[in-house]
Amino acid sequence: LVQLRGVRKRFGNLEVLKGIDMDVRHGEVTCLLGPSGSGKSTLLRCINHLETINGGRIVVDGDLVGYRERHGELHELHPRDVAKQRRKIGMVFQRFNLFPHKTALENIMEAPIGVARRPRGEVRSEALALLEQVGLQEWANHYPAQLSGGQQQRVAIARALAMKPKIMLFDEPTSALDPELVGDVLAVMRDLARNGTTMVVVTHEIGFARSAADTVVFMDEGVVEESGSPEQVFDEPRSERTRAFLRSVL
Ligand code: ATP
Ligand code: MG
Repeated sequence: LVQLRGVRKRFGNLEVLKGIDMDVRHGEVTCLLGPSGSGKSTLLRCINHLETINGGRIVVDGDLVGYRERHGELHELHPRDVAKQRRKIGMVFQRFNLFPHKTALENIMEAPIGVARRPRGEVRSEALALLEQVGLQEWANHYPAQLSGGQQQRVAIARALAMKPKIMLFDEPTSALDPELVGDVLAVMRDLARNGTTMVVVTHEIGFARSAADTVVFMDEGVVEESGSPEQVFDEPRSERTRAFLRSVL
């Protein structure tokens, strides 16, 4: 479903991604780990074309993300076409960026109505079902400020799901939460994983990665240092840098 080949990204003179290869198959969960500054967020942002890339290519569901190829050269797509591609990709960030002046339900309904122009009644019943899926059916008419961080993050997940994306990207979805709120959010993510949602998750939650991931990718300094099954990467890491990182987080 997702293929990255030789993906490079520079910010000025700083090369943040140095040729990333990665494959995510339909229905699989990939957890992305690595030290701060290794390029994890940048990689997710490239998959969504929130960042342009300086080399390589990214294909999501058959689309060359952000570009059009002509005579072997890549040309950036019109923002309208980028927006169309992005609808296939749901993203949840570290900070729950809900619309503060809209209720939980309205936040979820916003894109299906405003962007996809779907009928209101249908969108509303789907949004209510999504709220139930994330355990918040009682909270439909509350505003973000009236919700805990964990509840807000679950609304953010429901909001991303409302566009029926082919893949969900999560960037440290629990790292801004108080510890007692982390479990509910991870439980929602585990459900998604079990139900066959294709996901790429940047996380330091080793327990989640171990139990939910099909593939664990360890990044360091802009390269994929190691990738494999959770058992392989966590129990028998091949790379010394992976071992050092795991010692520091476990
Ligand atoms: P963390 O675990 O702290 O979230 P990360 O692995 O997500 O780290 P990135 O946020 O991808 O790392 O950043 C990788 C490098 O790119 C860092 O050195 C960062 O300072 C730099 N960087 C990220 N975004 C920009 C930007 N917009 N402009 C300039 N440099 C940037
Ligand atoms: Mg990051």
